[in-house]
Amino acid sequence: MTGQPGGTSSGRGKIGLLAVLTALAVLSVSVGFVNALYSGYQVQKAQVIANSLASNRAYAEKLAEVVNVYVGAVHRQLRAGAQRLASQPGNARALQDELHRLASQADAVDSVWLADGAGGITASTAAAATPDGGIRRLADLGVRELRAGEWVTRRPGDAGPALVLVEPVARGPGGSPGFLAMLVALDDGSGMDRVISGQAPADAASVFLVSNTGDVLYRRHEAHTALVLTNLAPIRHAGAASLEDAEGNTILTGYAPLEKGNWAIVTQRTLDQVLSPVRALLAESLRFSIPAFVFTLALVCALAYAIARPLSRLTRAMAAGRDGGQDLNRLNAWYTEADTLREAVRATLAQHRREVGRLNRQTLTDPMTGLMNRRALDEALAEYADKQTPFAVIALDLDHFKRINDTYGHGVGDDVLIALAHALRGGLRGQDRPFRVGGEEFIALLPTDSAELAAEVSERLRTAVAGQEMPEGVGRVTVSIGVALWPADGATSAAVIQRADEALYASKQTGRDRVTLWRSLAGAPPVP
Ligand code: GH3
Ligand code: MG
Ligand code: MG
Repeated sequence: MTGQPGGTSSGRGKIGLLAVLTALAVLSVSVGFVNALYSGYQVQKAQVIANSLASNRAYAEKLAEVVNVYVGAVHRQLRAGAQRLASQPGNARALQDELHRLASQADAVDSVWLADGAGGITASTAAAATPDGGIRRLADLGVRELRAGEWVTRRPGDAGPALVLVEPVARGPGGSPGFLAMLVALDDGSGMDRVISGQAPADAASVFLVSNTGDVLYRRHEAHTALVLTNLAPIRHAGAASLEDAEGNTILTGYAPLEKGNWAIVTQRTLDQVLSPVRALLAESLRFSIPAFVFTLALVCALAYAIARPLSRLTRAMAAGRDGGQDLNRLNAWYTEADTLREAVRATLAQHRREVGRLNRQTLTDPMTGLMNRRALDEALAEYADKQTPFAVIALDLDHFKRINDTYGHGVGDDVLIALAHALRGGLRGQDRPFRVGGEEFIALLPTDSAELAAEVSERLRTAVAGQEMPEGVGRVTVSIGVALWPADGATSAAVIQRADEALYASKQTGRDRVTLWRSLAGAPPVP
């Protein structure tokens, strides 16, 4: 399509219509597909993020509720234990039994501690811990204020993360008031861990119990991911947020505060983790859409080809300027513009053809008599020479034409020439051709090798002219005729014409109004 041979210079180096349409088609189909996949992915991503935030929050709230119920139950046992201690002050052994009974009641309870009114430890189930752990006062367990129902979360450290519940005892051993404290372990395998693990959702979300200072008291996750709380204010209400870790990864976070104490539940999923099913889905739909993509592409390219083809063929026909008739008829101009163009091209080419034909005829025709001129004679001779067709030259010249001109005027002379042309045309057969080669000189070409036939036709022409009706008052007009044949009388067409002229001259010399064959002249070689 590009760089048509013989194309106009304006089309050189330019891109073709088919290339433009194909590029457009490929581009639009590709953009369409990529856009569909991309926007589908973006919509799903946004939806999945929103869903994950909501589910993280719901999960955190549910866990907070479960932990509240669990801690509440443990606390009730502690309160009952405190009442039992107050109602039956016994000996040191009975006291120790009661503490152990209390510690074994709930499986989350790690140890039970009894303190005096000033917070000094007086008895404990964690016997070994007392001297070694250095815990002598409730303050060593993180309890800063001695009051009923105080919950404190012990920071991670010497004995691992734990929750400490405190309950006053009205009358402790020795009759004075004191405090009973219970230490609930929060580490792996603890009762709290089992309670939280029992609520785990199907996918692996990380769960953290955090103090409001951001310390992790408990974590549940196979991969032990780090807690991310970037830019998150201390948790006082349930909520969800999309946070970023130090590496720029997005962490979808849900959180809910616990009822008592300054701690909260935080659940987290990484964006990668949440998006992996969406990505798998995208890969899947990409695989499924490839055949459709290829099919659409092929279809659109075929359409581009079908659109470009009629136009490029029209362009070719137009550039070649040849008779596109057959070509144009076969051309499938299946849409309006191509059809209109085809008709326009057809009309233009036909017009062009007519014009060329008219100009051709004009250059080969004598305008006055309508006979063919000397140029046409040359072409006819060349054609005979090409085909090696034998021919006879009949040269004619009006007799005393000067006199007619002088007597009746030039206009009448012209009319005589026209009448003579008419007589010549009437006297010749279909394949014989008359030419006007000079003012009042004519030639008839006959495709024949017969001198008899040529003489016969010449005689017919002579009588036709003599019998032709002439303009008013001119009377009878005659012609003198000379005849020569190719190849018998001359080797070239120029030689044969020359000899026909010689014979014509002989006709003039011997009295005019007659026919002379060159071969009959004295000096002409004898004809075999
Ligand atoms: P001849 O019998 O010897 O041929 O005598 P002629 O008078 O015909 O011979 P000549 O060749 O001397 O004269 C030819 C004349 O034809 C001269 C010229 O004025 C005239 N003639 C040539 N062309 C035209 C033309 O187109 N129209 C007219 N009216 N006259 C023409
Ligand atoms: Mg003459
Ligand atoms: Mg003459």
